Amino acid sequence: MDRVYLDNAATTPVRREVLEAMAPYFTDKYGNPSSIHSFGRVVRRDIDLARERVAAAIGASPEEIVFTAGGSEADNMAIKGSALAVLGKKKHVITSTIEHHAVLETAESMTRLGFEVTVVGVNADGLVDPEDVRRAIRPDTFLVTIMHANNEIGTIQPIEAIAAIAHEAGALFHTDAVQSVAHIPVDVQAMGIDLLSLSGHKFYAPKGVGALYIRRGLRLVPLVHGGAQERKRRAGTENVAGIVGMGVAIELASAEMDATAAHERVLRDKLTSGLEQRIPHVKLNGHRTQRLPNNVNMSFLYVEGESLLLNLDMLGIAASSGSACTSGSLEPSHVLMALGMPHEVAHGSVRMTLGRYTTEADIDRVLDVMPGIVGKLREMSPVYEKTMCGIKETCANAHACDVAPASSCSCADS
Ligand SMILES: *Cc1c(COP(=O)(O)O)cnc(C)c1O
Repeated sequence: MDRVYLDNAATTPVRREVLEAMAPYFTDKYGNPSSIHSFGRVVRRDIDLARERVAAAIGASPEEIVFTAGGSEADNMAIKGSALAVLGKKKHVITSTIEHHAVLETAESMTRLGFEVTVVGVNADGLVDPEDVRRAIRPDTFLVTIMHANNEIGTIQPIEAIAAIAHEAGALFHTDAVQSVAHIPVDVQAMGIDLLSLSGHKFYAPKGVGALYIRRGLRLVPLVHGGAQERKRRAGTENVAGIVGMGVAIELASAEMDATAAHERVLRDKLTSGLEQRIPHVKLNGHRTQRLPNNVNMSFLYVEGESLLLNLDMLGIAASSGSACTSGSLEPSHVLMALGMPHEVAHGSVRMTLGRYTTEADIDRVLDVMPGIVGKLREMSPVYEKTMCGIKETCANAHACDVAPASSCSCADS
């Protein structure tokens, strides 16, 4: 039986066209792009072409793109680089509770240097209210960093409005757009973005290559000092093959964006409504419409998400309990907790993220096996049994029990 991969938010495979474009840089085109001889010059030209392609995909100019070793480095560079640039002058950063760890941990790390961080919350759908950002602004705020689309629940933030509020207060606006670039439209000009992080392996380029968009005229302190590569903004000999591959991948993804998103959206909606129809006591997490075309995140009440994932994996189906970084730990995801969800419900959550290679047969397979797995796990759950009795006997509002945690159903002891 073919395996089913529904973890495209964690990473994607490298596209064949991308791999083919990269191959010569491991063998024939091995020159160092900083060398002045012909071996180096041809490679320099190819890096410049990749830079043009990445810039074009987000409405930027090529000189505004700095290549990095991925999304995490881009986030670090945006936050640390802009903080160090205002050291001793301004010290306040605003971010949100549902950011990727690469943003949250980086902002937190700056408090050791005397910086202060305000973390604004989100509503039950995972949306940041721009007015909360406005209220958090201080005269010494230099940066607002709010992600474009969330990696766990897929919710898309109103970043234009948030960027405008940051600018009114004289602060910069950074967005972690790792989940959105090459998937949904992003335009740094139209959206008022000063700094933007992206990562190749989320759109069919290899792992270990990404970029930071830095608006023209902005000065950041580099993280990596050394040679004069990337206009002295990031030292080190370039990851040439990765950069070329990312350029090809982003150009292909941009050209195919509407078609890919439409394909994913149809399958996403089939998966969501199929699960909702076949399995009682489920809840879609994140905003129902303002979300990535490839994201389904669902809570299966009275079930351990980890057990569900193990059972799916035994059938060759790959999903996730949240971000790849926190799966394996027993802590529920900080994103689901930020939605105000009780522990038990967060623990029963599964993220299924689709991609360009996801087929209708993949979705049918999941819809076929999921009711049996969830049913089996619930039969083994004492909480489920007790709650089912409680719904029948004591709950005036049975629907509340569908979405509330078992413990708040005030069931009679059985
Ligand atoms: C994957 C991801 C990152 C990290 O990118 P890497 O290239 O793996 O370092 C950062 N932010 C978000 C939202 C992501 O999904």
